[in-house]
Amino acid sequence: MSTRELTRLTLAEARRRLRAREFSARELVEAHLEAMARHRGLNAFITETPELALTMAAESDRRLAAGDARPLEGIPIAVKDLFCTREVRTTAASRILHNFVPPYESTVTRRLWEAGAVLLGKTNLDEFAMGSANVTSHFGPVVNPWTPPGEEPGRVPGGSSGGSAAAVAALLAPAATGTDTGGSIRQPAAFCGIVGLKPTYGRCSRWGIIAFASSLDQAGPMARTVEDCALLLEQMAGYDPLDSTSADVAVEPWSARLDAGVKGLRIGLPREYRVDGMPAEIERLWAEGAAWLRAQGAEVVEISLPHTAYALPTYYIVAPAEASSNLARYDGMRFGLRVEGRDLTETYMRTRGEGFGREVRRRILIGTYALSAGYYDAYYLKAQKVRRRIADDFREAFTRVDAILTPAAPTAAFRIGEKMDDPVAMYLNDVFTVPASLAGLPAVAVPTGLDGEGLPLALQVIGRPWDETTVLRVARALEEAADFRALPPRIAEELA
Ligand code: GLN
Repeated sequence: MSTRELTRLTLAEARRRLRAREFSARELVEAHLEAMARHRGLNAFITETPELALTMAAESDRRLAAGDARPLEGIPIAVKDLFCTREVRTTAASRILHNFVPPYESTVTRRLWEAGAVLLGKTNLDEFAMGSANVTSHFGPVVNPWTPPGEEPGRVPGGSSGGSAAAVAALLAPAATGTDTGGSIRQPAAFCGIVGLKPTYGRCSRWGIIAFASSLDQAGPMARTVEDCALLLEQMAGYDPLDSTSADVAVEPWSARLDAGVKGLRIGLPREYRVDGMPAEIERLWAEGAAWLRAQGAEVVEISLPHTAYALPTYYIVAPAEASSNLARYDGMRFGLRVEGRDLTETYMRTRGEGFGREVRRRILIGTYALSAGYYDAYYLKAQKVRRRIADDFREAFTRVDAILTPAAPTAAFRIGEKMDDPVAMYLNDVFTVPASLAGLPAVAVPTGLDGEGLPLALQVIGRPWDETTVLRVARALEEAADFRALPPRIAEELA
């Protein structure tokens, strides 16, 4: 098998064939390291870890030879550079952490290494995960591998987990971790034609993940198939006493339950998700998705989530408020960037002023304002109340349906540089992902087609709290019906 063919394998296939000793973990890892080196132009990785990867692969090969393989033995994984990795630089794509080497490992990545996975490197993202296009990174933008040939500077991969999504789409890694606060797993998955799952809030430990908005942040898997996401989630999820919001609920064998079908399930289409100005192609794809599920025996009904229009304004109070509090710790005193001033106050000001980029500073200002004494009730408290209404809408809907089907994003991947001088236009990207985030619900983006320019489009499935099983089952049904196998043209060309 050629090295390029090795990069085409899904996680599930690679796992099976590693166990059958058709190739070694070392060969599999080397094939991906080569692909990463060939595609540095995508800027998907901030830090590559080839030596560590080969050391981990050697251990996997020993275990595979001894018949002692762990669940993800020898599987190479890319990790969003928001997860702390022990002795491997972790930057959050910020200048303020450009030199930060954590002395500890996040719980999610620790679980992955304990399951035998191999770290390929740390992927690029929007600074502190704030963004929808991976254009706010201190390390520069990521290029979507689906960029139409010849177009400069290219399309965005979505954000904030843009490096992870681009890496998986370009076959630089079979799977990656992402984090999702308002859509950062689902929206880049949609823009890059891969599958991305945001689990129920509390499903994966937040410990060791650099905090953005703590009541919303959730880690999840990104991969090329629904099955691969399920396999990865089985290892990422689980109760962690180190995270006070980690839930003590059982990790289920999701990958074994994917093919239960959708017969008899009730699927809701929320009428409020029919937003103005949505491209007709997305509208059509949504109807097609509903038809596929109906054809497989589901009952599809229209539902209403009346507070949907308030989700974005609510999110853009709650998330900046929590961010302003979380980011107060970056003061140049104990780690990260420090820019000396004449006195302590000036040192703080210069460190934070030079360490944080524009978007992060904007959010800190908005959040600090919303939390200040005179405005707390008008903004933060109000947002908390609306958040409850939004969650109640879903609770009500789930008395009538088992899952909700929506588009994943209101557009396909746009051009790098577009929307950058208009933060509100940028924020509108999250219109379909933010409601499930505010309600803490599991939701997945599944690629289901290409638009007229050859760019991927995706649908989203939202489920009841802790019901990843149904979410993944419906996603699997969509995946099967859509039969989406396309690769980015430049990657397909390489394989030809
Ligand atoms: N795009 C949203 C934001 O900028 C969501 C980001 C995320 O989920 N981390 O906040």
